[in-house]
Amino acid sequence: MSDITSLSLTKLVKNIKEKKLSSEDVTKAFIARSEKSKELNSYITEDFSNAIDKAKKFDEKPNLNLKLPGIPVAVKDLFCTKDIRTTAGSKILENFIPTYESTVTQNIWDAGAILLGKLNCDEFAMGSSNETSFFGNVLNPIDKGLVPGGSSGGSAAAVSGQLTPITIGTDTGGSIRQPASFTGTVGLKPTYGSCSRYGIVAFASSLDQAGPMSQNVEDCALLQEVISSYDIKDSTSIDFKRNEYSKELTKNIKGKKIGIPKEYRVEGMPKEIEELWKKGIEYAKDCGAEIIDISLPHTSYALPAYYIVAPAEASSNLARYDGVKYGFRAKGENLIDMYEKTRSQGFGDEVQRRIMIGTYVLSSGYYDAYYLKAQKVRKLIKNDFDEAYKKVDAILTPSTPSSAFKIGEKKNDPVSMYLNDIFTVPVNLAGLPAISIPAGHDAAGHPLGLQIIGKAFKEQEILNLAYAMEDKISFKNKITDWWIK
Ligand code: GLN
Repeated sequence: MSDITSLSLTKLVKNIKEKKLSSEDVTKAFIARSEKSKELNSYITEDFSNAIDKAKKFDEKPNLNLKLPGIPVAVKDLFCTKDIRTTAGSKILENFIPTYESTVTQNIWDAGAILLGKLNCDEFAMGSSNETSFFGNVLNPIDKGLVPGGSSGGSAAAVSGQLTPITIGTDTGGSIRQPASFTGTVGLKPTYGSCSRYGIVAFASSLDQAGPMSQNVEDCALLQEVISSYDIKDSTSIDFKRNEYSKELTKNIKGKKIGIPKEYRVEGMPKEIEELWKKGIEYAKDCGAEIIDISLPHTSYALPAYYIVAPAEASSNLARYDGVKYGFRAKGENLIDMYEKTRSQGFGDEVQRRIMIGTYVLSSGYYDAYYLKAQKVRKLIKNDFDEAYKKVDAILTPSTPSSAFKIGEKKNDPVSMYLNDIFTVPVNLAGLPAISIPAGHDAAGHPLGLQIIGKAFKEQEILNLAYAMEDKISFKNKITDWWIK
């Protein structure tokens, strides 16, 4: 088999199960390509020699009933991995080695997967371009000058550049779907409570959710099946009946009702996004779906509400990085001085900005005016979706208001950076599942994604819609391997 790294997860699993490939063949192929792909800066920590040992061990006594038999996987560096450095893309955790494993990563190892390494991300998952990482920005395999999106930018680049067959990311306001859209890959943000948050470095706890990223919808369904589980170690984990997403996947979506929300037609949206959306509607119709115009009236308040709620929770979650318990510590004259120096030297600009906004909106006198109001808006946004779902089964929108932007383009303009999340954050505020699938290209040939938003716990429904539409779209990612010398 010549080109192992171009095979989808599903094909790799099939080949391993049929003994046409060994775990060692597959693992070595992805390592070899990863070695040649340093310029992308996808990895923060590589665990290649351990991966080869584990693959050999798997091959000695292969358990071929597993869902990810001997499959090498690199994961976002926000998941705690026992005895393997976990940085969250930050200086403050530059040398942090967890003593325990996140549930979601444990689930993939239990299914037979093998850790390749930890992938670059925005610092504490705060960002939309992977430019806030302490470990430097990631290059988009589509085009050297472009960001891969964020915060799961290293993950998206690693899947689209074929350094790993699949990966897991996290999505607080769009960090799986936006980078998927920027790199021509598939990304699913599950319903809040579907995947355990145990062992994930916390950003905004009421919004954070782990999810699969892959080359196609079938792989995404299989990975979701593996990572989604009820977990008593996470107090917000929900015990609902989970589907066997990959087995139950069907392209038969005839008669499904798909809503088109008029409020997502935002001012200044590029024509190509408008066109992509129109095409998406046609594809859905071709698959037998019924299209219904809907209204989500509070959409325009989602972004301001998110940028109050998320920083508020972040400021509280990040209070633990004080130089005492773990992580980086700066020298100080006394305790307070040490705290101040540790936090100002240990956190990057974006993280400090969020902490300041967060502590401000939570402070007495401003709590009612900002935080409480944002929570009320959040409820209204959730109500909008509840109302819409009386009429439709799912909602179709673009994933992002533009294709991947240039490195440096928005770095010094936080508001324009935040605006990139306009179509993704309402979903997190309402706790719903949503998938981004590659659906076309802009004039420059850069990928564009469509988002399908589902009802809570109806991951199967949106996976099916995505599966059917993917077939009609027949998207081809234009990767030239420019970084491989
Ligand atoms: N870009 C958004 C932010 O910076 C979302 C990040 C995320 O989903 N982790 O907050």
